[in-house]
This record gives sequence, C-alpha cells and structure tokens, in this order.
Amino acid sequence: SSKAEKDRGEVNIQVLLRCRPLSDDEQKCNVPKAITCNEQKREVVILQNVANKQVDKVFTFDKVFGPKAQQRSIYDQAIFPIVNEVLEGFNCTVFAYGQTGTGKTYTMEGGMRNKAGELPAEAGVIPRAVRQIFDTLEAQNADYSMKVTFLELYNEEIVDLLAAEDCSRALEERQKKPISLMEDGKGCVLVRGLEEEVVYSANDIYNLLERGAAKRRTADTLLNKHSSRSHSVFTITVHVKQATVGSEEVIKYGKLNLVDLAGSENISRSGARDGRAREAGEINKSLLTLGRVINALVEHSVHVPYRDSKLTRLLRDSFGGKTKTCIIATVSPSAHCLEETLSTLDYAHRAK
Ligand code: ADP
Ligand code: MG
Repeated sequence: SSKAEKDRGEVNIQVLLRCRPLSDDEQKCNVPKAITCNEQKREVVILQNVANKQVDKVFTFDKVFGPKAQQRSIYDQAIFPIVNEVLEGFNCTVFAYGQTGTGKTYTMEGGMRNKAGELPAEAGVIPRAVRQIFDTLEAQNADYSMKVTFLELYNEEIVDLLAAEDCSRALEERQKKPISLMEDGKGCVLVRGLEEEVVYSANDIYNLLERGAAKRRTADTLLNKHSSRSHSVFTITVHVKQATVGSEEVIKYGKLNLVDLAGSENISRSGARDGRAREAGEINKSLLTLGRVINALVEHSVHVPYRDSKLTRLLRDSFGGKTKTCIIATVSPSAHCLEETLSTLDYAHRAK
C-alpha cells in the first residue's frame, strides 16, 4: 500500500477521476479540449493558457479513467472490491460527484439491462453491483435476505422514490408525507416513513430502480433542473446468515450506498459570483458538508461535522471506521467547462 494510504490510517476513501468523451455535438463544433488523462500515471493534466503562456496543472488521483474507459473496466478495477466488503459485512458508499452533464448518472446507472435481461456494455455501477451481489450469494448457496431503499434529497428534504404514488402528484405528496431521520443511539441511522422493499432477484431491483428513475424524470419536467439540484441515494442492505449457535442466528450485515450527487456547479465559484451563492448554498448544504466531512476524516480531525446536513446524517453509519468510500469525480474534456472542471478537481483532490 502507498504512503498516502498509510497516512490515512483507518480512513478508507478512494478518489477516482473520470473524464467523459466529447459528445457528437461538441465534436461537430470542434470544441477544444482542455484536459488530458494519463491512466498509467494516474494523472490529469489541465492545459491552460495564462498570459499567452502554456501553464499545465497536474492532479493525481487513486485512479484516472480517460474518455475511452469502459463501464466494465471502472467497475472491475474500483467497485468490485468494495462490493465484496459489503458482502463481508461492512457499510460502503460510492459517490458520483461533478458538474451536470459530465456523466454522473451514466457512471452510476448507465444502461440497466437489455431485452434478454443481461447487463449491456453501458451498464453502470448500480446494475453491476446488483448482479455481483446476487451472483456471489447464489454461488455460495448463502441463506440471505436483501432490502433496498431509493430516496432523493432536495433542499434538505427526503423524498421517497419508491413510495407508490401518482407520479404527477409527486410534489404535493412531498408535503403530505414527511420522512424523518433518526439515530438509534448505537450509531445506526433510521429513516422513518421510508419504503423498504424486500427483493429476491436482480430483476426485482431493476424494476424498483426503473420506477424510481421514472419518478426523478417526472420531477425534472415539473420542476426546472430538479435532478441537477438533488442527490439520489440508492441503498442495498444485505443480511447473510452465518451459523446458528443454539437458538441464536449469527447474521452478517452489510450496506451499500450508491449516491448520484447534485451537480457540483451548485457550489461553484461562478455561482457565488453571480450572487446566487445564497440559494445555491441552501440547495447544496449537503454537497458542502460532504466535502467537509471527508476532509475531517482524511485529516483525522476530532470534530467531523456529520450533523450539518441531511446527506451526511443519512450516511453517518457508512463513514469512518471499517467502511469503504469511493468518490468518482466526473469531468468534461471541453475547454468551455474548464472553470467547473477545476473546481471539481479541487474538491475531489481535497478528499485524498
Ligand atoms: P450528469 O448525470 O452528470 O448530469 P449524464 O450522466 O446525464 O450527466 O451524462 C450526460 C450525457 O453524456 C449523457 O447523454 C450520457 O449518456 C453521456 N455520457 C456521459 N459520460 C459518458 C461516457 N463516459 N461515455 C459516453 N457517454 C457519456
Ligand atoms: Mg444526472
């Protein structure tokens, strides 16, 4: 293990950088590129022209994935070991962080399944994790049970994406059915009023995901830029029976949180300059607090400000100690996005 890992002690946070390809439209318009990725050296180089001089800025991450990186290779290299930890009884979290349009949802969801019910090449982290969990448990002939929740955090309010309700009334329902967050005193987080669905197969989970994703899309059409301002949190909880000792069952319990964060432009420097900082701050208290919590953990601070936002309270039992966290920071290669790209790199780099 590297020196950086040792310095981090117990804190196990991995930061990856993924740069998407230029889109067809961007290619047609000859949009210039401002970033190059060196996967071997785990480096991202920003090409900047300052006062007519070429000034390159280099950032190093735990892993770097360039525009050609396939969903599968990211999963196999970075996420597969984390999901194994979950099956060993640990709580783990994968975050996608970045500007809107850089591939957070593509990275987390991608294509869910093809007509034959198989994983397509563009399947992202969530469908692959679901498949790995079921395949592993089935191969072990394990006695297990599994539950999922799928929620959204918008303006520091929790919205249940699995609650069976008329999609077109999603916004009114929100006021009607408040969901509350509590801690049980033993460090476990409880969300009261949230649907917990018991699932028996990968297809059960894909159906729930599609239901939740459809609800997010509806909210998007009802409320401008809703999904870029909200965080979605998909959680799979696995109970695996280990043994029976007398009349007591020994259960291994692990949890996997898969988080598609709000667009990082909500907390950017440009937002602050436009005078939108206040609104942005309200919307993204969770994004700012997440950064502070991760910094505090990395720096071994005595005070970790979990309580300052809903997102960090919600994930409280999946931070620190024997947990694993992976942040996938996503960026665009376009020179037009350079300022946002730099603030994403700064945010992600501070988590290292
Ligand atoms: P975000 O969730 O960060 O707003 P999306 O995941 O919606 O961004 O991605 C924006 C667009 O770019 C989508 O059309 C998506 O399919 C495409 N895209 C993102 N990342 C990649 C990638 N690595 N390869 C191919 N297409 C991508
Ligand atoms: Mg998205």
